[in-house]
Amino acid sequence: MSRQFLFLLMISATTLSAADTKPAPTPKLKTFKPGFNFFSLEQDVQMGKEAAAQVEKQYEVVNNPELNNFIQTIGKKLTSQPQAGNFPYTFKVVADTSINAFALPGGPMFVHTGLISAAESESQIAAVLAHEISHVALRHGTHQASKANLIQIPAAMASGMLGGGLLGTLEQAGIGLLANGMLLKYSRDAETQADLMGAQIMAQAGYNPIEMARFFEKLQTESGKGSKIGNMLSDHPNPENRVKNVEDQIRAMPQKSYTGEGGGFDRAKGLVKSLPPPKKKSQVSQGGQGGAPPAVGVVPMPSLSELRPSGNFKTAQNGGFSIQYPDNWQTQSDQSGGSLTIAPAKGMINNGQAIGYGSQFNFQPFQNGQQVTLQQATQSLIQMLQQGDPNMKVAQNGQQIQVDGYQGMITMLTAGSPFQGQKENDVLLTVTLPQGVFWGVFVAPESDMPNVQGTFQRMIQSIKFAKN
Ligand SMILES: [Zn+2]
Repeated sequence: MSRQFLFLLMISATTLSAADTKPAPTPKLKTFKPGFNFFSLEQDVQMGKEAAAQVEKQYEVVNNPELNNFIQTIGKKLTSQPQAGNFPYTFKVVADTSINAFALPGGPMFVHTGLISAAESESQIAAVLAHEISHVALRHGTHQASKANLIQIPAAMASGMLGGGLLGTLEQAGIGLLANGMLLKYSRDAETQADLMGAQIMAQAGYNPIEMARFFEKLQTESGKGSKIGNMLSDHPNPENRVKNVEDQIRAMPQKSYTGEGGGFDRAKGLVKSLPPPKKKSQVSQGGQGGAPPAVGVVPMPSLSELRPSGNFKTAQNGGFSIQYPDNWQTQSDQSGGSLTIAPAKGMINNGQAIGYGSQFNFQPFQNGQQVTLQQATQSLIQMLQQGDPNMKVAQNGQQIQVDGYQGMITMLTAGSPFQGQKENDVLLTVTLPQGVFWGVFVAPESDMPNVQGTFQRMIQSIKFAKN
């Protein structure tokens, strides 16, 4: 039992004894429903099947009957719980040493060998599977895809099925749901739902739900220490109070002893150990980064306290523009290219040649009365950035904004991070000025983008261009 959980129990015990007349209200079990969705349940299943076929081409599926049986037995106990719904769940083990598991819409589930190695009990594996099952049952993948492509998906579906399946049809319409990880990366709200419903599912199946809190806590503590933790946490980003929320939910459950572990855990770990090292590099869930060669000059991830912005801002002035930035970050201007880097010292790598955390700004003047639209400028910048990092992908297309009265655009990108074991999120800002294109890139490891996003926004809002 974690210290935190003991502490909580102690508090609730004191509260109860102090309140003689009115007992503390018992927390309620939360229930969840799927959000809005353009796809039907059948389409979830169809899409999942198509995506699974692609996954199996790129991953090395482990064909060890004993290991498969171990995972499938856990899976069956979990999916027979009512919350799992009627999806045709399947469970496969794939040879990949990173700690992860992922579920596709409609039920196909893949468990990395690295997850089995990292788990400390059968219940911890059950915790991850129950969490994934909840993503499937609550249809988080297709919900998210629907939300992110509000206009494109109905249009693509109206154009009729063109053969090549559902994913193919969407892909032809420019909606690469699998390639950009849309089906596998979840919002923090979705994570909380999957945690809480997953905890209920596993408890009903006889597994101690505290193991879910414990496993995520372990991932959290160890993230940053090694390179193998990043995957799980970046596909399933930590919502606030993750562990506490699960613990609260457990208090709402009827007390029982958990005897669901079927045995075979040590044996399964041994089997994983005896497998030959993975031959294939898996790339599907990572939008290209998972098994891709690490970016040049990868360095260990510094501690977040050395990177995160302070709440106090100061102003940097750079010829054509001024911007406010956190006062614990540094500025560095590149004399030749005229670019300005604003980042924490540990966020600049190789003397600022790469940025793992922070921002960089540039200005490209128009030549000979040349004019480009905001879209054209953004497109060519993305192409340019992609030449520097072939793993760079557009995660969300441009959104128009105003910057100091000028038309600007924000594009979300994902890329390989110069920090070991991290994926990167980039916010590309492009602004067309009368005399040229101003652009900035705001960079953070995907796992920390939610924490620094507000700072980036504040920086963007503070930009003032020299009027002449
Ligand atoms: Zn998740």
